[in-house]
Amino acid sequence: MSKATLLFVASEVFPFAKSGGLADVAHSLPRALSGEYEVNVVMPLYSFVDREKYNITTMDVALNVSLDGVNYKIELYGCESGGLDYLFIYNSLLCDREFLYGLPERGYNDNALRFGIFNHAVRELLTYKKYEIVHLNDWQSALVSLLIKEDKTIQTKSLFTIHNLAYQGVFDKEVLESIGISKEYFNVNGLEFYGKVNFMKAGIAYADIVTTVSQTYAKEILTPEFGCGLEGFLSYHSNKLNGIVNGIDSKHFSPSDDKALVKPYDSVRGKKLNKKAYLKEIGFKESKKPLFIFIGRFTWQKGLDLLIESLPEIASLQCNIAILGEGEARYHHTLKEIADVHNNIHLDFGYDESKSHRMYAASDFLLMPSVYEPCGLNQLIAMRYGSVPIVHGVGGLKDTVDKKRGIVFLHQSKSSFKKAIVQALKLYENSSRYKKIAQHNMRCDFSWDKSAKKYVKLYNKIREKI
Ligand code: ADP
Repeated sequence: MSKATLLFVASEVFPFAKSGGLADVAHSLPRALSGEYEVNVVMPLYSFVDREKYNITTMDVALNVSLDGVNYKIELYGCESGGLDYLFIYNSLLCDREFLYGLPERGYNDNALRFGIFNHAVRELLTYKKYEIVHLNDWQSALVSLLIKEDKTIQTKSLFTIHNLAYQGVFDKEVLESIGISKEYFNVNGLEFYGKVNFMKAGIAYADIVTTVSQTYAKEILTPEFGCGLEGFLSYHSNKLNGIVNGIDSKHFSPSDDKALVKPYDSVRGKKLNKKAYLKEIGFKESKKPLFIFIGRFTWQKGLDLLIESLPEIASLQCNIAILGEGEARYHHTLKEIADVHNNIHLDFGYDESKSHRMYAASDFLLMPSVYEPCGLNQLIAMRYGSVPIVHGVGGLKDTVDKKRGIVFLHQSKSSFKKAIVQALKLYENSSRYKKIAQHNMRCDFSWDKSAKKYVKLYNKIREKI
């Protein structure tokens, strides 16, 4: 019997384009699903995607998107990678940009139109090829659920995943016409949000099933503290809301077979050489002191304020600290000021996949003081590389880290964070206990196996309703 078909839609997919965890999920979840479903993945073909490297070629298909009297030329491209077929949508307005969405502080002014075009192109794709399920991700593809509900010729069922509720795609209501959405959807039950248009609401209202990326976050977003103004709307739709924790690609994040590492390893003992090599790489002397790392986007969400506030005190303790990331300019400035006066803090600005792998391998502890965290992948990757995470106990961090795996602090405050650091230093002194935890982490299963099955169950459930 042939497998049912699934189109996985995302605005970023590793290795083609990545700004955060969504790209990792869009890379690894479709692979984990491909045993059960025939999966295609579709994303925009941004101009910075290396077509030659990935052998991305034209499919000689032109999709027709006409919005508010304007024709947008859409070309379809494709490539094969890791046993999956990838599709790419190219339109110059959507794709010819330096960044995916704009600068961290401010998205591009025409993002509503850019992703409006993307959503309509995906709808066209669903008429060109029949898919039983479309899996949508975050606001950038949320409108597809509305467009297919509207189009009675499309039988596809939709599942919408919220990866981060704070980014909802909110725009002035004037954009509605230009993106070809009828005014009849501009009401509290549809896209209207305090007089503006909210793309995320379309996914929540019109998808057949809504998921988010951990069970705790699925509960948290129903509260004013984490609901970002949508807690009431989500509560109304809570009968179709599910929490499924993310996994990681155990092949890509594999310390025993990682080309980025000086010396791949399969037990905690093997980390020593990688730590030595990394300390040399950043110009630090070989050291017995524990190495704390922080990797991530420099935003409020990731706990940058608490990190910055606590760094001088942490640096005064017996440890080394390495930070890799990029984001808001204000955080760049302050971090640099602090790193300049502490010779045990190393700071790297930018996005560097292979450096991040070397850091995970070298680290003894990962710092993750996030204010909120829908799932978080860094802690899973760090544990896979035999590191011990120190996390604020929220969202997916609460679901994936416990006392057996790391250190969880309950209040996102300087005193709680400091206590956790001191606890970490004590743990590190007790080398056999530390190693036991680190080794245990390396053996944990953070693959997609269990969670992919949960998605398949939901897809099958909504298909049965056809
Ligand atoms: P986000 O909220 O950014 O999606 P996640 O924890 O879900 O956070 O995923 C972050 C992913 O991006 C992880 O794979 C992490 O290693 C990676 N990452 C974040 N910042 C950087 C960076 N500056 N360089 C390399 N990798 C990074």
